[in-house]
Amino acid sequence: MTPHLPATPPAPGSQIHTMAPATVAVSAGRPPRQPDGPMNPPIVMASTYHAGGDVGYGRYGNPTWEMLESAVGALEGGVATSYASGMAAVAATIELVPVGGVVVAAPGAYYGSLALLRRLEERGRLRVRMADLTDLDSATEALQGADLCWAESPTNPLLHLVDLEDLAGRSRAAGALLAVDNTFATPILQRPLEVGADIVVHSATKYLSGHSDLLLGLAVARDPGIADRLVEVRSGTGSVPGTFEAWLALRGLRTLHLRVERAQANAVELAVRLASHPAVARVHFPGIGGMLSVELHGTVATTEAVTAATRLWVHATSLGGVESSLERRRRWPGESTDVPETLVRLSVGIEDVDDLWGDLCEALAPVLP
Ligand SMILES: *Cc1c(COP(=O)(O)O)cnc(C)c1O
Repeated sequence: MTPHLPATPPAPGSQIHTMAPATVAVSAGRPPRQPDGPMNPPIVMASTYHAGGDVGYGRYGNPTWEMLESAVGALEGGVATSYASGMAAVAATIELVPVGGVVVAAPGAYYGSLALLRRLEERGRLRVRMADLTDLDSATEALQGADLCWAESPTNPLLHLVDLEDLAGRSRAAGALLAVDNTFATPILQRPLEVGADIVVHSATKYLSGHSDLLLGLAVARDPGIADRLVEVRSGTGSVPGTFEAWLALRGLRTLHLRVERAQANAVELAVRLASHPAVARVHFPGIGGMLSVELHGTVATTEAVTAATRLWVHATSLGGVESSLERRRRWPGESTDVPETLVRLSVGIEDVDDLWGDLCEALAPVLP
């Protein structure tokens, strides 16, 4: 039995949790207000603590993690546990599945999560049932006898939306926990726990921290008992976040709402303009968030030439940073063959939209018919 602390619930009696997400992002996760107390959370660098308290050792807790966890927990409406990376949070959540249990997942999930599920299935740890979760009838069939449903909305990289409230009802009826990877939408646009999901997972590497300078993950549970099990996995496996990363993530989180609003406004405008661009065959944009995919006319080679030609847009994987980036998704061998070869996924940042458009148009010019 691993010694572990219970997960940190949001501060009792706090008014913050009834306020709007913009207010929560700015105000939650701060030290108590007292004369000469710091307004910002301190970075507590400690592997050990004086005996006699609840924490004792650095793998079981850290005051800087707790500040970040209380802010993200308040935003999502649950109890948050932070991890070394998004994948560590994914792995901890999957660890809740009993041996031999069934996980329902969709082909449009993050490919690292699907790869982990497949590896665990090969070793006999669990069974995976793939289902299109945008089709709720096929979801219902797959959920029979399942232990966990793994959902993402919008999906990656085709950006389809899943009706999470309906899926939560169907998961509950089947006796399965519903975990939602909310990395793309963020709690500014979508709060799955409010519509019945059990666990929300984040790669805070992306929008929550927002500056492409760290790796960190969180799992947020509605039920404190589940949150305790998530902490136990972290303590037992040592998948703890770096203290400085937790501090930076919280610093980035303070502007989450502004970044998401601006990225979304830019994405809406670019989706409209791209839809009538002669080099573009199809635009995938769900109307929310800052992620956008386009299928280009032309070949793999011309698509690669476009992604290499931009001067403002960064040619790189990942997403959710202040800077706009793009990549041809099929350049990754692990990407699903359902994704068209000439699909370019764009993570729209917070720059001036006309500058972004100008740079894209120059890069797309050689593809014009
Ligand atoms: C990046 C990402 C992950 C994995 O997060 P890391 O921080 O890279 O480990 C999981 N889910 C989604 C949707 C992601 O985009």
